[in-house]
Order: sequence, then C-alpha cells, then structure tokens
Amino acid sequence: MDKSTVSILEFSAERNRDYTKRVQKLTQFCNSHAEQLSSLIPIANSYKEEMSRLDPVIQEFTKKICPYCGTVCCRQKFGLPNGEDIVTFWALGITPPEYDRFRDLNGPCQYLTSNGCHLPRINRPFRCTWYFCEAITVQIEISPPKVCNNFINRLKALIQTRQVLINTFRELVEYKS
Ligand code: SF4
Ligand code: SF4
Repeated sequence: MDKSTVSILEFSAERNRDYTKRVQKLTQFCNSHAEQLSSLIPIANSYKEEMSRLDPVIQEFTKKICPYCGTVCCRQKFGLPNGEDIVTFWALGITPPEYDRFRDLNGPCQYLTSNGCHLPRINRPFRCTWYFCEAITVQIEISPPKVCNNFINRLKALIQTRQVLINTFRELVEYKS
C-alpha cells in the first residue's frame, strides 16, 4: 500500500457522482488487504460496545423530541455512508445496506419510518449518531447533571475510538506495504 491509496477514503454521496463505484472500490480494497488491516477489528469491536452503551441514552433524548419534529433532519444524503463509515462497517463485518442512489439526496432518507430510523445504530453513518440539532442539545443541557455528564463522557469515548479506528486505517494504508 502507498500514500496514494489514502485518497480512497475521501468521498461522500454529496461530493462524488461516482459514489457507488467508490464504495465498491474501498470495500474491495479492504477485502484484498484484510490481513494488513486486521488490527482494525478489535478497535471496531470496542466502538460497537461503546455505541451500544450510548444508544439507549440517545434514545431517551430523541424520543421526547423527534416524534413531534416538523423539520426532520434525516435526508437521504445523510443516510449514505462516507468512506470512513465504509471502513468501519468493513472492520465490523457489516455489509452496508442497499442504498437507493436514485432518490433525491435532499429528500427523506430511505430508512426513515414513522417510528424513526429503521437501521440499528451501528449500521448507520456515524453522523447519524454525533449530530444533535438545537432542540436535542437543549434537552441534553437541561437533563440532570449526572445524566448529562454520563452522556457526554460516553459520546466522547465513542468519538475517540472512532478516531483511533480511522487514524489506524490511514497509518496502515500509508506506511505498510
Ligand atoms: S434530531 Fe432534531 S431535527 Fe432531527 S428529527 Fe429529531 S428533533 Fe427533528
Ligand atoms: S438516522 Fe437513519 S433515517 Fe436518519 S439519516 Fe441516518 S440512516 Fe437515515
């Protein structure tokens, strides 16, 4: 692997018209370098554990607000994973869901239902977990300090582990051959 391969990570549905091809290329790349990338797997498993601990806390906040929201933020472009999400899915052994690339990117996400997101949190793009609108942010801020601090600590741990995962991928791709 060499430095030029790092660029295979840099794409998103919004920026790249050849999005589907890039997803396939990155997945094939990971599959063909599975041994070199194997150190990603334990990090991804920690990420999954942290995600499962954080999920019920987020649900507590969103269930009070999202069902009454008039401007739901779940657009198709947000539901489509970027390169970092694809690497994370690969390390977790998750096959990315089938995405409808013919949908309007600014229209409702194909996984949005009347009961919220149809996908388990671990199968969603990371932005679906770290993004909080103003109403949710207020809900977090007015929660009891113990709840608020617990949430912030868990979210920080998750973000940090995800960063370690992606940085490790970049290092492996950049420096190992
Ligand atoms: S996160 Fe905020 S903007 Fe998105 S659906 Fe919930 S309340 Fe609405
Ligand atoms: S949370 Fe679910 S429905 Fe909302 S944008 Fe993400 S994948 Fe789509």
